[in-house]
Amino acid sequence: MDKKLRKLKDALGNKVIDSIVERKLYSYDATAIPIEHTTPIAVIFPESSQDIEILTSICYEEEIPMVPRGAGSGLTGGATPVVDGSVVVSLERMNNFKVDVDNTTAEVEAGVITSEFQDYVESLGLFYPPDPSSFKYSTIGGNIAENAGGPRCLKYGVTKEYVLGLETYIQDGKFLKTGNPIIKDVAGYDLTRLIVGSEGTLGIVSKAILKLIPKPPHKSTIMGEFDDMSKIGEAVTKIMTSGILPSALEFMDKNSIIAVQKFYPAGILEEAEGVLLIEVDGTRGSVEYELKHIEEILMNLGARVTKAKNKVHEQQLWSSRKNIGPALANIKSGKINEDIVFPRIYLSDALLKINEIAKKYDLVIVNFGHIGDGNLHVNILYDKMSQEELHRAEKAVDEVFELALSYQGSITGEHGVGLTKRRFLEWQFKDIGIRLLKAIKQSFDPKNLYNPGKIL
Ligand SMILES: Cc1cc2nc3c(=O)[nH]c(=O)nc-3n(C[C@H](O)[C@H](O)[C@H](O)COP(=O)(O)OP(=O)(O)OC[C@H]3O[C@@H](n4cnc5c(N)ncnc54)[C@H](O)[C@@H]3O)c2cc1C
Repeated sequence: MDKKLRKLKDALGNKVIDSIVERKLYSYDATAIPIEHTTPIAVIFPESSQDIEILTSICYEEEIPMVPRGAGSGLTGGATPVVDGSVVVSLERMNNFKVDVDNTTAEVEAGVITSEFQDYVESLGLFYPPDPSSFKYSTIGGNIAENAGGPRCLKYGVTKEYVLGLETYIQDGKFLKTGNPIIKDVAGYDLTRLIVGSEGTLGIVSKAILKLIPKPPHKSTIMGEFDDMSKIGEAVTKIMTSGILPSALEFMDKNSIIAVQKFYPAGILEEAEGVLLIEVDGTRGSVEYELKHIEEILMNLGARVTKAKNKVHEQQLWSSRKNIGPALANIKSGKINEDIVFPRIYLSDALLKINEIAKKYDLVIVNFGHIGDGNLHVNILYDKMSQEELHRAEKAVDEVFELALSYQGSITGEHGVGLTKRRFLEWQFKDIGIRLLKAIKQSFDPKNLYNPGKIL
């Protein structure tokens, strides 16, 4: 056996697994497009902070690249090893957490499944809002590393708003504790925020201190179906400047509606150019007031309006939005799912330009997403059997990113850079920005062993 592997096994015993089955299973993540990857030499399953300290110090001494991994639900190749001789470090066995109800904070190990944590805190009347659609299986560590978000982030903010502190192993197993269970803390540079969203490239997060807020007692949903796309942008602006902040403001374009209708014929969507799904939460009185106000805005702009009659109906309304992902697989075998961001006011224009890109490359592009915060999921569909179509789709992606940046937007609002967006990061950051990112990486990880090949 390889000397390096022997050293890890001697220190960590059966927490180090090098069977070909595990090595292959942990060599990829949920990224849908073909990406470079290699098979790791082993998968390590730490069960405590001490295990992480041991493995990071051995890996640093022996120069073994480490790829931290939560549930592998990332969409940009973040948890995929690309350097030969790597180990994957799966945090899945680090799944304990402790809630301090009086202080409304929690200490959470990195491998805790997001929805399990959320269900528990909600049973205590508390709320942890970050809601990536993958919440049923993704981990708190993965959410932190990707700074994940979802529909509710319009009102409540993304993961970084809830991370008060972190325990992270950096360099040769050095323990870095940042933050405390306190809301205000302006001492020094904000290292916690630097680690949030760093995609495993600065170190391995073992534990987080998370902020909790009171659970809103009530929520409800209203849907507006539009035959005129230009009215959708107007509706969004009117809602967002009305003094009401919805807990979700989601959009589906015509192609999304067609896909969902085919996939889910018993559904509730009629033919339309676009749909807005809006959720408000708060006290019963405030929810009723806000819904009425939003209903007026939608109707004045000519939308067909449906209000959720009860919880089951509410779920039916949301099922159309939640079914888009699987519905797209019915249309074409391949999809490139980008998650660009525009300042909200430019979204209507941007959607027209994206349709022009679709025409130019003769492709089906399906747009939906979190229109309230400008985060659009642009899904470029292609036939997996056609290299030529994939090539056209890749060219369309380049133009979609150029478009986002030309409107002062971003190449990613949720999925991170990982492997698939490295090239585009340089478009977004100027030279000095990239140099600073590299200098930060160098000071956390001078030997480039934490998730090498990602982001930069
Ligand atoms: C169907 C589907 C829907 C999705 N919807 C959303 C969405 O709505 N919003 C959104 O933001 N994302 C979404 N995602 C993407 C993905 O689920 C999120 O990025 C999620 O946060 C990844 O969590 P994970 O535990 O699976 O992490 P992984 O995929 O295992 O890892 C992601 C990155 O984090 C790093 N990492 C993981 N754990 C640690 C750790 N403990 N310390 C340091 N680095 C670590 C990895 O190295 C990798 O770079 C979706 C994915 C799928 C498949």
